[in-house]
Amino acid sequence: MSNRIVVIGGGASGMVAAIAASQRGSRVTIFEKNQRLGKKILATGNGRCNYTNVTMTKNCYNHPFFVESIFDQFSLDQTLEFFKDLGIYPRVEKEGKAYPTSLQARSITEALEREIHRLKIQVLYGQTVEEIEFKGDSFVVKTNQRQTNVFDKVIIATGGLALPKSGSDGSGYGFAEAFGHEVTPVFPALVKLNLDCPYLKETDGVKMETTVRLYQENKLVLEKTNDVLFTKYGVSGPTILDLSRKANELLLKQKRVFVSINLVPDYDKELLIERFMRLKQLSVYESMKGLLHQKLIHPVLKEAKINDQTIVEKLPINELERLISVLSDYRFEVLSSKDFDEAQVTAGGIKVNQVDQVTLESNLIPGLYFCGEVLDIDGLCGGYNLQWAWSSGFVAGRFASKMN
Ligand SMILES: Cc1cc2nc3c(=O)[nH]c(=O)nc-3n(C[C@H](O)[C@H](O)[C@H](O)COP(=O)(O)OP(=O)(O)OC[C@H]3O[C@@H](n4cnc5c(N)ncnc54)[C@H](O)[C@@H]3O)c2cc1C
Repeated sequence: MSNRIVVIGGGASGMVAAIAASQRGSRVTIFEKNQRLGKKILATGNGRCNYTNVTMTKNCYNHPFFVESIFDQFSLDQTLEFFKDLGIYPRVEKEGKAYPTSLQARSITEALEREIHRLKIQVLYGQTVEEIEFKGDSFVVKTNQRQTNVFDKVIIATGGLALPKSGSDGSGYGFAEAFGHEVTPVFPALVKLNLDCPYLKETDGVKMETTVRLYQENKLVLEKTNDVLFTKYGVSGPTILDLSRKANELLLKQKRVFVSINLVPDYDKELLIERFMRLKQLSVYESMKGLLHQKLIHPVLKEAKINDQTIVEKLPINELERLISVLSDYRFEVLSSKDFDEAQVTAGGIKVNQVDQVTLESNLIPGLYFCGEVLDIDGLCGGYNLQWAWSSGFVAGRFASKMN
């Protein structure tokens, strides 16, 4: 008798889970609420799909020890080989980010779909799973289209809450809870931050590569160096996305959180003083031209409470100190982040200590598996979340396909 497996959700992890299970001889059905597979993948990497990262380690994730055993079974190298077999060769860019050489996300979805069709996996489009019932040795799955089907194993691959218009609306949490699983609080991660800063209109559009520090009150909690983009509402860019998880985690605990941006990463205090002294005949405003983006000069002077027409050599020492401090520590309170509509990933999810670390099978319900973002696993910006989706999907599919 063959093993009937249902994969709920035809996103990144669900497609790979279905392929892995089918390759091992199981009869696989995917229920996907959209009219196509892998809708979210099309939005990844700005439409180019940063599908993995060649510098990845377990430490790029919130639960390093949980992900480790999954990556041991379906590693970065195995992922690259898996995709090469589908015609996807990597083009590796800055910071180890890997993209398909076509630089088109659709190449990834099309390659996976081709394999799904080759393996004759049944795909039921436009079917939203609404209920899963455990009958002791089988599962009854009901959809919005009044489909009622019976399966031996269920793989929940419904994603988290990020970009809900792509189909991931958090339904997987409800299924897991109905089976007795706990879900940790979920919040947006890899997301832009809203700042309490009066100069946002003026600085909108300025982009720079620098170090940004995250503070809880006055305590430094995290720092990252990469591009930062000033926007009308606050800040964005890879540095901010990577800090956003910690920022939201602290905000959720009602802590006060601040970001501090070094506006002069090429200068230390000594060099700044030397530069101001060379230009001591100029007004402070004029002296700052060439030091940093022009749009930042007024805001910095206002923040340092310095009259921009003051001649540098007339500037009292305490004011010069204050100016230098604002330049290297331009600090504002984080009010909130953008919500799930604009987040790349969900932090939180199905608690990993109720899921087998090797097989991804539920510790509570035999035959129930989880993969991808629905679990309480998230990674940094740069290909790590898709790598988790591929690896966890592969492992869940492979173990689900094992006959008891
Ligand atoms: C804008 C954006 C850019 C990103 N860029 C990158 C990147 O470049 N690199 C990277 O590594 N990661 C990136 N990510 C993150 C990455 O896309 C996700 O982590 C990954 O897609 C998660 O895979 P998943 O299979 O768990 O969930 P998803 O890909 O979200 O798939 C879940 C699927 O389940 C379906 N579904 C949900 N509920 C049901 C139901 N009840 N019945 C039937 N079907 C259901 C949904 O329609 C969806 O197709 C990005 C995310 C976003 C939003």
